[in-house]
Amino acid sequence: MPRPIVATIHLNSMKHNLARAKACAPRAKVWGVVKANAYGHGLERAMRGLAGADGLALIEFDNAVRLRELGWTKPILLLEGFFEPADLILMLAYGFNGAVHCVEQIEMLEAARLPGTIDLHLKMNTGMNRLGFMPHAFATAHARLRAIPAVGQITFMTHFANADELNHSYLPMSEQIRRFKAGVAGLEGACCVANSAGMLRQADLDQELVSDWVRPGIMLYGASAGGKPAAAFDLLPTMTLGSAIIGVQDIAPGDAVGYGSRYQADRALRVGVIACGYADGYPRHAAHGTPVLVDGVRTSLIGRVSMDMITVDLSPVPAAHLGSKVTLWGGALPIDEVASAAGTIGYELMCALAPRVRVVEG
Ligand SMILES: *Cc1c(COP(=O)(O)O)cnc(C)c1O
Repeated sequence: MPRPIVATIHLNSMKHNLARAKACAPRAKVWGVVKANAYGHGLERAMRGLAGADGLALIEFDNAVRLRELGWTKPILLLEGFFEPADLILMLAYGFNGAVHCVEQIEMLEAARLPGTIDLHLKMNTGMNRLGFMPHAFATAHARLRAIPAVGQITFMTHFANADELNHSYLPMSEQIRRFKAGVAGLEGACCVANSAGMLRQADLDQELVSDWVRPGIMLYGASAGGKPAAAFDLLPTMTLGSAIIGVQDIAPGDAVGYGSRYQADRALRVGVIACGYADGYPRHAAHGTPVLVDGVRTSLIGRVSMDMITVDLSPVPAAHLGSKVTLWGGALPIDEVASAAGTIGYELMCALAPRVRVVEG
């Protein structure tokens, strides 16, 4: 008998979410973002779920090569570009497109003398201050790239710091868009600017976010971006983490549960023990009260999350017993709610799904 914890990946929901992404940006082409093992969903699985995307975008070279080996013939974009000159040979051999965000990368391209051309995404820093050229340095970077024979098409890219908080007090979207437009003024080329939040919040912007290519990630996996619950955007969850009750304890008032005896019952209580812990990717910081479904009924976490188990209050589900089905997230329990109870975001929970968890499709 395998341990009952299992992650179910719903490819039909992924297809549905991709259709939603296309509806959000009807004139744009879509890079389906599959970095971090497709946000924990499995690269090969996501490749099938997102077969309708115009291209796939990721960070990892090994997985980019794997996509080609798995038969993906459409474009592939490396979101952080290349890290060393040898990467350029791979990009050429496999036809990868990649971000160029710093002078050192341009120098590598100039020195490489490649026997062919590579398409690139020239990245602008519009206030995130991670990767990218400042708006005032963008045209110069562009001219330098354009002069390199091995450079094919150049697309203009930026990644917004606050696409989920349009009226951010320090750096609102209007200012980020203004910087981008200033940086590309006078240059000819396609733009690639919107992530999920940018796409979902377009309706709330007072100007069109011109993005010939969009880069949705989290919305394809049915979690929230853009400050509202995913369901409000008609997105369907693509990952359900399920398990079962493997033990039940009847405790008396004053009895404590779990490491550190952090939770003490104020009444007689049935405690359900679930096969799921932080070594499965369940967040150890999930607070007392984090929602959990037992036999479809909403109850809550009590005590500390341990490596292999969590404990829940069975009072709302008196009929629960050994083997009762549990949903940790997905289905009727939005991953964002669980994430928020652990002080994090749905992205992190998906990406942290541990290798020991069995994954099936359904
Ligand atoms: C991860 C990533 C995305 C996707 O972001 P979501 O918020 O998941 O939609 C888009 N662009 C870049 C550069 C990224 O790194």
